[in-house]
Amino acid sequence: MESAAKSAREILTGLHDVMASKVDAQAKLDRVVEVIGDALTSEVCSIYLLRDGALELCATLGLKETAVHVTRLGSGEGLIGTIAQNVETLNLDEAASHPAFLYKPETGEESFHSFAGVPIVRSENAVGVVSVQHVEPRRYDEVEIEALQTVAMVLSELIANAGMIDDLSLGSTFDDTTALLSGQPLVGGLAAGAAIFHQPNVRVEHVVAEDTEAERQRVYSAFAKMREQIDDMTKQADFGAGSEHEEILETYKMFAYDEGWSRRINEAIDSGLTAEAAIERVQQRTRMRMRQIDDPLLADRMHDLEDLSNRLMRIVAGKIGTAAKLGLTEDSILIARNLGPAELLEYDKRRLRGVILEEGSLTAHVTIVARAMGIPVLGRVADVRHKVRDGDMLLLNVEQKSIIARPQQSALDVFQAELADRQKKKARYAELRDVPAETTDGTRIALMINAGLRDDVTALSLAGADGVGLFRTEFQFLISATLPQRERQQRFYREVMDAAGEKPVIFRTVDVGGDKALPYLKIASAKEENPALGWRALRLALDQEGLMKAQARGLLEAAAGRTLHVMFPMVSEPWEFDQAKAIFDAQIAYLKGRKRQLPTHIRYGVMLEVPALAETLDLILPKIDFISIGTNDLTQFLFAADRADPRLAERYDWFSPAIFRFIRRVLKTCEGHDVDITVCGEMGGRPLEALALIGIGIRRLSITPAAIGSIKAMIRTADQGELTKKMDELLANPSENMRQTFRDWVEAKGIETG
Ligand code: PEP
Ligand code: MG
Repeated sequence: MESAAKSAREILTGLHDVMASKVDAQAKLDRVVEVIGDALTSEVCSIYLLRDGALELCATLGLKETAVHVTRLGSGEGLIGTIAQNVETLNLDEAASHPAFLYKPETGEESFHSFAGVPIVRSENAVGVVSVQHVEPRRYDEVEIEALQTVAMVLSELIANAGMIDDLSLGSTFDDTTALLSGQPLVGGLAAGAAIFHQPNVRVEHVVAEDTEAERQRVYSAFAKMREQIDDMTKQADFGAGSEHEEILETYKMFAYDEGWSRRINEAIDSGLTAEAAIERVQQRTRMRMRQIDDPLLADRMHDLEDLSNRLMRIVAGKIGTAAKLGLTEDSILIARNLGPAELLEYDKRRLRGVILEEGSLTAHVTIVARAMGIPVLGRVADVRHKVRDGDMLLLNVEQKSIIARPQQSALDVFQAELADRQKKKARYAELRDVPAETTDGTRIALMINAGLRDDVTALSLAGADGVGLFRTEFQFLISATLPQRERQQRFYREVMDAAGEKPVIFRTVDVGGDKALPYLKIASAKEENPALGWRALRLALDQEGLMKAQARGLLEAAAGRTLHVMFPMVSEPWEFDQAKAIFDAQIAYLKGRKRQLPTHIRYGVMLEVPALAETLDLILPKIDFISIGTNDLTQFLFAADRADPRLAERYDWFSPAIFRFIRRVLKTCEGHDVDITVCGEMGGRPLEALALIGIGIRRLSITPAAIGSIKAMIRTADQGELTKKMDELLANPSENMRQTFRDWVEAKGIETG
């Protein structure tokens, strides 16, 4: 190892002088081959660079001078082309016996037997190759190969700065072929834009260190900071980002404290590299080693290590913020392992066209927020980091579960046609704006929207919905950097009601906790074993009375002179409703005492999302005006399946007898009470589910605004009597694949499902 550091160091010092010299780029390359040849006592040293789509011999020591700028090899052609194509090192004692060997007579290389070549990498693509050759057949030892790899990093910096290679952004790299990726639809839609990583990778700008001791210090403190971050994450596990599952964190922790890793980085610094280059150097080497092992489990670990290595790199480079902090400069498609709802809301809505998640699930709050923002999301996309680069053009088609990276013109054309088709449909739905959502046999369905952002309310009139069935007030808390004060809340609620005009808005009191973490509410971020079943929603609000009081007053003041609709989330037992209402009563008394104007009427409701409440409905029904069934939480509790866990995302189908029978029973219990019953979970916005809900007796749906048009059009082609008969039949005797049976029936009936 000692000698590796030394020879690499010698070369780096030599290269540093070359780079600092005032000669032109070609002269620098000519000097570089001399420095390397000298240091490695090799008879040949050559540099090939990617130019006009091929690898061109740009400088050589030992091959014929006349071949420079003449010899060119395509991707995969010869040893040089193979190294570039696979972004992999070759170390051969007998070059001619390698299957890819190709003899280029103009170079005069026939007398050389041994060969070693390493790719010059830029943004994970080979933009050139540096090689050495010897007459004597011999294998190069690890020290020499590592020295060459270090040289390749320096060259990467030199040639990029000198503009000696094809512009990567013009897309003439080897890896510029179109890539197709697939995933699980989370929020429907089409999107086109440039790839942007939530946690951006840092590009190494300087390779050769000016002051090795300073670099060592930088890496030392970066390690300390990274370990601190990982420890913090472990302490707050499962609260917040939703991605930081136990297992991932454990692996992270293991890698973060891995002595071997930090030692290798230090050795690379000893050889004369900057901290960034040393981290990259070690990452490249690990990547190369892991690639040779064909084990999916190891590949996963590699992914974690890359994540961590990128994190370390960002810390060392002082680029700690996410891509949101840097701002979007063009139409973009965001790529992340996972996101919290607050993190998504940090992005510029005008430029964010789509989201790709490596994890993700249908009812995770980030998905709901994206749906509210009308941003398509494809989840569970594996391998996206290896197939997509920062800035790549992406076409996202959620319904087809596909992403096309670096599309050809033909794919762009298809995309445009699809877009035009959707716009046509949209125009048709717009025509239905002022007609009611009524079945062919005259049953009127109230269609409302789920909202949470002020802009959502404009969708009310645009889509022709009947009101806001669920206003998630916590969104305002999530997007705010500090706890919103009462006046701010009051102003906001008033603006929302103003925007809704005559139509009702059902305000749900704050529902935070679970996967909706408030960074400033430190108390809420204590570690919980099961945050979905934890201290969240009304439970948290009743304990943090100040929070609830301020919101109650804000709502009462905002609704002065009009009807206020208030709904409490996650009521599990009737006394929780009583306590929550008591907070409102106290505020009403306070306002009355000060002769302030009150709402003309207050309607109270509860969300039914904890199954226990269904067993005590008779106790609560006389006290309330409405119930909203939150199927997102309800299903996670009915199936005991975490709504944010990507591994369970597809395990239980909403179209299940358990859910429909449960809801039907609730409807039955409510018969004879003057209580409105709405379904406000995500399932109501999906065509087959919505039809089935109508079939079992639901007459009010609160759904994502984007679905209003298509669901209304669908309702207007369905017969409620027939739906009821069909659902009775299916629930009495559920088929194994109830969804498919129902879908076939719906198709046969000619119901328009969009
Ligand atoms: C639900 O649980 O179904 C619901 C509508 O509330 P949220 O998704 O905000 O938890
Ligand atoms: Mg809920």
